[in-house]
Amino acid sequence: MSDHLTHDPSRPALELAGVSKHYPGHPPIVALDDVSLTVERGELAAIVGPSGSGKSTLLHIVGTLDRPTAGEVRIGGHDVSDLSDRRLAAIRSHLVGFVFQQFFLLESASALDNVADGLLYTGMTRPERLDRADEALRKVGLAHRVDHLPNELSGGEKQRVAMARAIVGDPGLVLADEPTGALDSRTSEAIVELFHHLHDQGSTILIITHDHDLADLIPRQISFLDGRVTSDDRVGAAAVPSGG
Ligand code: ADP
Repeated sequence: MSDHLTHDPSRPALELAGVSKHYPGHPPIVALDDVSLTVERGELAAIVGPSGSGKSTLLHIVGTLDRPTAGEVRIGGHDVSDLSDRRLAAIRSHLVGFVFQQFFLLESASALDNVADGLLYTGMTRPERLDRADEALRKVGLAHRVDHLPNELSGGEKQRVAMARAIVGDPGLVLADEPTGALDSRTSEAIVELFHHLHDQGSTILIITHDHDLADLIPRQISFLDGRVTSDDRVGAAAVPSGG
């Protein structure tokens, strides 16, 4: 199952070349229109755009939940444009970590078990999974909350658990969909700080958001409108990727 399912360190974390997505209609709806972009290993980047600009479509395609109509998508060097559903599911669980606005934690499981679940398909033993989960919760500042159930955690803490789950398998690319959308502004700031912290430790993170205040805090901003990239700006030296 896990044949070569790691990011190729010599390749960017994400490459899109001429990616389009059309939905049937009269005329057809062009959700993505010839999008080409590269996210290098170690980058922290934001895709920002208003409602209807194609962000969710992009997220689904990069997250291998949907296929493009045209173009090529590579994750960690793997061409995912026309893989079987089975291969896509494997790619998804090994190469990409997800963070969602609504957290999606299992309510009946502790923080530790929620994070360890992110490793279910790796073939690791349960003690190994729990060890890794414990380490990931430490990285997100939740060492003191490992035994808590989600309903015993604040919104910000729940999002930290979700971030620990996203990074626990060292996926090579973390996709975060409106990660602060359900949080108040102070908690959001702390979550943005945590993204920076994980980025400093080597994670590659792509945040998808309509929130310009959030995107302004991210070293690379890729703006979308009508399914196209309208600008791609790097601010500050922090945006320079470390390469291998
Ligand atoms: P965003 O996430 O930025 O709000 P979307 O990717 O959801 O944008 O949508 C981009 C465009 O594609 C919109 O015009 C939307 O109405 C259309 N669209 C999205 N999903 C579908 C679908 N399943 N069927 C038809 N049109 C869709």
